[in-house]
Amino acid sequence: MADHPTPIAPRLVADDPMAAPDLPVSARVRARIQRARRRFNANDNISEFLEPGELDALLDEVAGKMQGVLESMVIDTATDHNTQETARRVAKMYLTEVFRGRYVAQPPVTEFPNAEYLNELMIVGPITVRSACSHHLCPIMGRLWIGLMPNEHSNLIGLSKYARLAEWVMSRPQIQEEAIVQVAELLMSKVTPDGLAVVMEADHFCMHWRGVKDSGAKMINSVMRGSFLKDAALRREFLSLINMKA
Ligand SMILES: [Zn+2]
Repeated sequence: MADHPTPIAPRLVADDPMAAPDLPVSARVRARIQRARRRFNANDNISEFLEPGELDALLDEVAGKMQGVLESMVIDTATDHNTQETARRVAKMYLTEVFRGRYVAQPPVTEFPNAEYLNELMIVGPITVRSACSHHLCPIMGRLWIGLMPNEHSNLIGLSKYARLAEWVMSRPQIQEEAIVQVAELLMSKVTPDGLAVVMEADHFCMHWRGVKDSGAKMINSVMRGSFLKDAALRREFLSLINMKA
């Protein structure tokens, strides 16, 4: 099998952005991601595949498609003054606000060596969580706490940076279980602590606004790494300090 050349499918021609300049910008970006064999799920960041100016071009493209959605919903955007600019407003909100964490690079984080050899439990939170579910694009609003057990090799980052990094991960269409793992992995790579705990408590508007319409339901989940996994007393201390049941 190995000596058979892979047949070149006609669409591979279109995968070359240079060969098909008339393709929508999303197709050009997608082709680059696929060529790099990378994932582009809703909660992945694709900023490294965007060239300067392409986010504006994507915004135009999404606005055009959103206009089509409104038309298919039989909304009179021509004479209804409330909806004349809705397609562009929604496109702008998605690409530059609520899902911005897909399209912009990670916010810069200055890491400081742990010069004082701090090795006491450190808690950051609550950090406000604003996201939307990948299933319905309905808002997810909640809070997040981070517990860290630094060691002498850990890097320390400024307090506000925890919120910036969390916001970058959360401002994508998300699934709470995956979001919290993404936050934990990002922090593990930046801080390299002995232990890390992340707890997220969130309201899922797809349960309030539609579906079961249960306005009281919240989802709480946690990720524990390193010493927080091994040390039950540390885990209890963290959970009691953030006021959660162990
Ligand atoms: Zn949902």
